[in-house]
Amino acid sequence: RVAPAPPMVAMIPSPGMGHLIPMIEFAKRVIRYHNLAVTFVIPTDGPPSKAQTAVLQALPHSISHTFLSPVTLSDLPPDAKIETIISHTVRRSLPSLRQAFHSLSATHTLAALVVDLFATDTFDVATEFNASRYVFYPSTATVLSFFFHLPTLDQEVDCEYRDLPEAVKIPGCIPVHGRDLLDPVQDRKNEAYKWVLHHAKRYGEADGIIENSFAELEPGALSELQKEQPGRPPVYAVGPLVRMDAGPAESECLRWLDEQPRGSVLFVSFGSGGTLSSAQINELAHGLEASEQRFMWVVKSPNDKVANASYFNAENGADPLHFLPQGFVERTKGRGLLVPSWAPQPQVLAHPSTGGFLTHCGWNSILESVVNGVPFIAWPLFAEQRTNAFMLTHEVKVALRPNVSDDGLVHRQEISSVVKCLMEGEEGKKLRYRMQDLKDAAAKALAENGSSTNHISHLALIWANKSPVTTNYSN
Ligand code: UDP
Repeated sequence: RVAPAPPMVAMIPSPGMGHLIPMIEFAKRVIRYHNLAVTFVIPTDGPPSKAQTAVLQALPHSISHTFLSPVTLSDLPPDAKIETIISHTVRRSLPSLRQAFHSLSATHTLAALVVDLFATDTFDVATEFNASRYVFYPSTATVLSFFFHLPTLDQEVDCEYRDLPEAVKIPGCIPVHGRDLLDPVQDRKNEAYKWVLHHAKRYGEADGIIENSFAELEPGALSELQKEQPGRPPVYAVGPLVRMDAGPAESECLRWLDEQPRGSVLFVSFGSGGTLSSAQINELAHGLEASEQRFMWVVKSPNDKVANASYFNAENGADPLHFLPQGFVERTKGRGLLVPSWAPQPQVLAHPSTGGFLTHCGWNSILESVVNGVPFIAWPLFAEQRTNAFMLTHEVKVALRPNVSDDGLVHRQEISSVVKCLMEGEEGKKLRYRMQDLKDAAAKALAENGSSTNHISHLALIWANKSPVTTNYSN
């Protein structure tokens, strides 16, 4: 007798690494606890990036993946924002998603869809297949709380949020000035704003929201979100889910770190998608040089127009080291390591020689740093990173934030002084202690009977118990 196939959970990530990586970590844990099959069904608008292929190929045997046929986005304006691009990619992929589910449902009961924060349009397909609907929220509980608040704010406020005289009160959080809110709500006429509002409104239809954070990191926001409220589904805090392995090939960085003193290296990286202007790369190089600290810098080619030029593809042609000031490489030899485009970040942050992290404040980067107890310099570039930087500096108090000058640049003197302060100043020490507490709390959350483990096994149990349904899918 053949055992029936286990119920299937379909994960729908968006293109780009920042949302895919934590979803994969979640999937790996889901299959640990109950008999479930997991498959990634991935909407795209082109061939996958090398980074994407690498993480998907490293998935355990029991997690499969399929790329949906690429959609065409050629009608979108060239300056369309990430949220717009993702939302259109998902919406235009619905017919092929439906087809993929037809095939899947021949062998499995589709128990649940776990979808990217900008993929709520897939809820319609979930309903057709009788599957429950969950949002995987790869950012902070603070920004999630803002999402739930946004439809009200949109009704109450006429002007741009950045022009409000008073700070915005996100439930459960310290008040945030409008200019520190996420990028796509900075211009309410932009299509990206309409998409964010659209998704925020649809969150109410979900059976649950899976939030990659934990109580000690965001106590206010999470306790607010866990209160029962009409129109708000249960919020499961499953964080901090981070990737611990980043592939074997890139160990030159780690060998170099092995030779440096404990806690002496500042790791500088702007995530998978962050890019700086040529002028800012120049200032950063001079600032790092003047700081006289050790550093490892993941350098990307400059982009003078947008700050997220490599978001959907981390590798972009030109050799980034060509854009550094003349003589910089020689002058910093021995105490600075330059890594073109991509480093094994989780291992770098876990290495005992790493003592600080200059980061763009992408949430995965923050969590990877938190589980390793490494304090930050917060240098936000796009998306919700400004809100994250604000929270980390003022609420959690584990980051220093350099001043941006009127010309939009962070100047070399400022960089050098913030770097020194983090790596060898009194303030840096305080941040390090605070980080150590969070590191311990993170380890507890992830341990047996910790909040992350309990929430994930609870969800897995709900999905595993979903009984087969007989539905006629002939239309
Ligand atoms: N990452 C990496 N090496 C790099 C840059 C990024 O391994 O050189 C990984 C990083 O560890 C994290 C993810 O890519 O897991 C970036 O996610 P995050 O949310 O920090 O930022 P995003 O890329 O979405 O802006």
